[in-house]
Amino acid sequence: MFRFILLLVLFAVFARLFWRFVEGVMRGATMPRGGARPSHAPSPVKMQPCPVCGTYVVPGKAISGTSSGAPVHFCSEKCRSEHAVR
Ligand SMILES: [Zn+2]
Repeated sequence: MFRFILLLVLFAVFARLFWRFVEGVMRGATMPRGGARPSHAPSPVKMQPCPVCGTYVVPGKAISGTSSGAPVHFCSEKCRSEHAVR
């Protein structure tokens, strides 16, 4: 019985290691030329710079607008109105 538990634990550890490896390979495959991407990156969300002040914002949380047809993301309401004035 003890042997069985030991085997099970070993299997779980190996399965986890294997899955981590597979995940790493898949991440590498989905990101061509990713190269040396820092592993401490906060999130895979692509940040967009505010066209007025240059602050990087998350498009999902930013104030969105359009600049000559192209979608842009502002860090604040102030920047959006400033951009409209220009
Ligand atoms: Zn801004």
